Amino acid sequence: MIDTHCHLDKLEFAPDRDRVVERARAAGVTELVVPAIGPDGWAGLAGWARSTPGVHFGLGVHPQLLPELDPRDDARHLAALEAALAEGGAVAVGECGLDGPSVAAGAPLERQVRVLRAHLALARRHRLPVVLHCLKLHEPLLALLDEAPLPAGGVLHSFSGSADQVKGYLRFGLHFSFAGPVTYERARRPIAAVQAVPPERLLLETDAPDQTPRPHRGRNEPAFLPEIAAAVASATGRTLAEVDALTSENARALFRLGR
Ligand SMILES: [Zn+2]
Repeated sequence: MIDTHCHLDKLEFAPDRDRVVERARAAGVTELVVPAIGPDGWAGLAGWARSTPGVHFGLGVHPQLLPELDPRDDARHLAALEAALAEGGAVAVGECGLDGPSVAAGAPLERQVRVLRAHLALARRHRLPVVLHCLKLHEPLLALLDEAPLPAGGVLHSFSGSADQVKGYLRFGLHFSFAGPVTYERARRPIAAVQAVPPERLLLETDAPDQTPRPHRGRNEPAFLPEIAAAVASATGRTLAEVDALTSENARALFRLGR
């Protein structure tokens, strides 16, 4: 099983990062994709991932970080991102995207769009998939995706849109990744979205340390991915083994992970 989105580089995992990876392996979660959040974390994450078997990394600037970053530094950060990607090793550009709540928190939509557009250009240039975050800004994201194709595809992580919105994204060749919300008691909307995704576009993630799947509580971690896989299995009428095989194959193809 592959956790395609977990933030093990966050401070929450500083005390026991390597044990968290060991627990994931023991739970059958053999590979992890850790998308960076911002410039300060790129070098540390890349170094740790390169020295930890089964851990892969993406590089980007999360839209929720933008309110904390001076907009006058955006061009410098994007140039640094280009240089970091040129070093090789990253399996994706991201995490990047559009975040509704961050507009009110100090990152206007036009700035978010500008920064995301630069990420998409880098993904095209480096032939890498993009890891996209989108919260409540699906219309502007669809408009941005319409500007130019993404040859290496990408994933809408922790997809929070509706089944109808799944259809809107399908023409871009994107994958859809689902996290803890599919395990929640009143998970009608995420379950309907899972059911609307073609099997070859389906991925699993924990989004650790956030979005802890039931019945766990507190800090989320990749070892909890089987709970999410089980919810996806029951939503799609497949066995857990089938969901594991299918989503692992999809993740390997998208992120071009070796065997
Ligand atoms: Zn994330």
